[in-house]
Amino acid sequence: MLCAIRDSDKIKVIARSSKKVEGPFYCPGCKREVNVKKGAIKTHHFAHKPPYKCRYGAGESDAHRNCKETIFNKLCELPHVSLCELEKNFGDNVADIYAEINGVPVAIEIQKSDLTVNEISKRTRTYHEKGIYVLWLCLLDKKLNNQAYSPKAWEKWLHAVYFGRVYYWLSDLVVVPFHFGDYQTYIESSVWFDSSGHENSSGGYFKTSRRYKTPMQGVGINIGSNFKPSYKSAWNSKTIKIPECSIYSDNLKAWWKDKKK
Ligand SMILES: [Zn+2]
Repeated sequence: MLCAIRDSDKIKVIARSSKKVEGPFYCPGCKREVNVKKGAIKTHHFAHKPPYKCRYGAGESDAHRNCKETIFNKLCELPHVSLCELEKNFGDNVADIYAEINGVPVAIEIQKSDLTVNEISKRTRTYHEKGIYVLWLCLLDKKLNNQAYSPKAWEKWLHAVYFGRVYYWLSDLVVVPFHFGDYQTYIESSVWFDSSGHENSSGGYFKTSRRYKTPMQGVGINIGSNFKPSYKSAWNSKTIKIPECSIYSDNLKAWWKDKKK
């Protein structure tokens, strides 16, 4: 967690601008005391004192915290952004970042490795009920440079929600969208003889892989200027269930379609 409550004045403070002597600080979730961690390399943050069972801020990596803090700082600089808040507590849910961009209420959520599709779906629905547009971001994975990529369950879910793209944070307010196209896998040909001496053959053709997809990168886009609010009605397939939702999605045309032919 990047924010905690300063006991002396009950104000929510950011680790980056807090000193240990200003403590004690406590967790906004469980109200127990937390330590301020101010290392030279890692993103400054607050951490529970062990042992603890609180889920608040759980599962955050340094990359996650760095992404969250950077986006928050950069959004605050924009003149058309107001009410920008880090780790905004909605009671049932804490948004990584909340802001009004051109008057549109937006929650930015950064994917954590331990978040399940069910939780992402539930949070997305909760934001819709509150009239807030949600932007889910993922952390870049080197494997996206590969020809064949096996998207995780939540990437498939986000791909379906955001009209065939998943957003990965690059730097500052820039994100890169990826479309997952079909991946053709080659089935090796083989020839064999059955017991009566007849020749049989199989394979020797390409088949659309179920597991692998081809990552198709779009151009880098800016959270502050290339996104718009969209509504998406509930939708189900055999494998994916999407609730009615309000999303903050980009304004790019489907770049992967020009490449076909
Ligand atoms: Zn806690």
